Amino acid sequence: MSDLINLYDLAPAQLERTLGEVVSPAFRAKQVAEWLHRGVDSFDVMTNLPKDVRSALAEKFTVAQPEVLTRTEPASDGSVKYLFRLADGNRIESVFMPIGDRTSICLSSQAGCAVGCTFCVTGFFGAGRNLTPAEMLGQFFTIQREQQIPMEQMNVVFMGMGEPLLNFDNLVTTLDVLYTNIAPRRVTVSTSGILPGIEELAKLDRRPNLAISVNAPDRKRREEIMPITAKYPLERLMAALRRFPLEKGRDMTIEYVLLAGYNDSTQDAVALAKLIRGLHAKVNAIPFNEDANLPQWMKRPSDREIDRFVDTLVRNGVRVTVRRSKGRDIAAACGQLRGKEVAKSRATGGRPLRTASESASEADWRR
Ligand code: SF4
Repeated sequence: MSDLINLYDLAPAQLERTLGEVVSPAFRAKQVAEWLHRGVDSFDVMTNLPKDVRSALAEKFTVAQPEVLTRTEPASDGSVKYLFRLADGNRIESVFMPIGDRTSICLSSQAGCAVGCTFCVTGFFGAGRNLTPAEMLGQFFTIQREQQIPMEQMNVVFMGMGEPLLNFDNLVTTLDVLYTNIAPRRVTVSTSGILPGIEELAKLDRRPNLAISVNAPDRKRREEIMPITAKYPLERLMAALRRFPLEKGRDMTIEYVLLAGYNDSTQDAVALAKLIRGLHAKVNAIPFNEDANLPQWMKRPSDREIDRFVDTLVRNGVRVTVRRSKGRDIAAACGQLRGKEVAKSRATGGRPLRTASESASEADWRR
C-alpha cells in the first residue's frame, strides 16, 4: 500500500489546511479542492494547475480510487453491480440502481462484516477491515463517472457490504465530502441496529436518512437471524428509533427481508405494524435472495405471499415499498457477487470458504 496521503481521506476543513501547507498561493488549493469535488482520480486532469504544482502534489498525495475488477451487464431493471479491488487486495461490491428519475448507488463500508446476519452472504464470510473514506468515496465517484449521472441527482445508500455504524469516524468524513455535492436528504445509512452508532448519528448537525434492518417482529426470531439482537435488544432499538431526531418531511426506513414461512405471515405483518406504530417510518420489504452459501431453508416467498404481507401492512396503516427484483438476476444482495468469486477461488484451490461458526466467532460488535 502507498504511504502517500489520499486526499479523499480528508474532511473538507482538514483538506484545506493540508493543501495550504503544500500548495500556494491559496487560490491554487481551492482549485485542487474543486477538482476533488468532481471526483477525479488523477492529478494529471487538473489542467488549470501548473505542472510543477501537480508534481508537488503527486510527491505527497494520491487521489487513487479502487480498481473496477468486474462490472455486470445491466440487469433487466438497469442495475449494474461492480466488484472493486482495493489496494491491499480486498474485494468489495457496489450497485448502481437507476429507479426512474431516482438513481441510487449502494456503497460498501467494510470489506466484510462481523455482525453475522444469517441471511447475508457478507455476514457468512465474516469480518473484514473498515474501508477508508477514500475507498467509500472511490466507489461512488467511479460509478458516477461511468454512468454519467450528475452528482446532485444521485442518491447514496450505505447498504452494501459491512455495518457502516461500526466504521463511524470514516463514515462521517465520507458524508462530509459527499455533502459538498449531494444534499443529506439524498443519503441513507442502513444499520443492523448498532445503538451507540445510532445515538452518535443523532448528534450530527447534518444527518443522513436512517434505515434499520429489522427483519422480524419479535426479539426471539430477530435474534435467531440477527445475533446482534443479543447485544442490542429489539426493545432498546425501537426506543432509540423513537428518540431519533427526524427533519420535517423525512421518514426512516424499516428494512424487512421476507423469508418464506419464517417472518412473512399475516400475523407477522400485523405484529410488525404494531412494533413500528408511532414512528415516522416506511417499510421496505425485501424478498430474500437465495444463495448457495446461506441456509437452504431460507427461501424467497412467492409473489402471492409477498402481496399478502404487503397488503396486510397497508391495511394496518403502514406505507410500504417492495424491492421486488432490483438486481436479482445479477446477484445484487449484499456480498453475493464477492461470494461467487470466493467460491470460484475455492474450486480452483484458492482461499477456503469459512464456515458460519468461524464467521460468528470473529464477531466483534464493540465500537
Ligand atoms: S446484513 Fe449488513 S450488518 Fe448484517 S451481516 Fe450483512 S452486511 Fe453485516
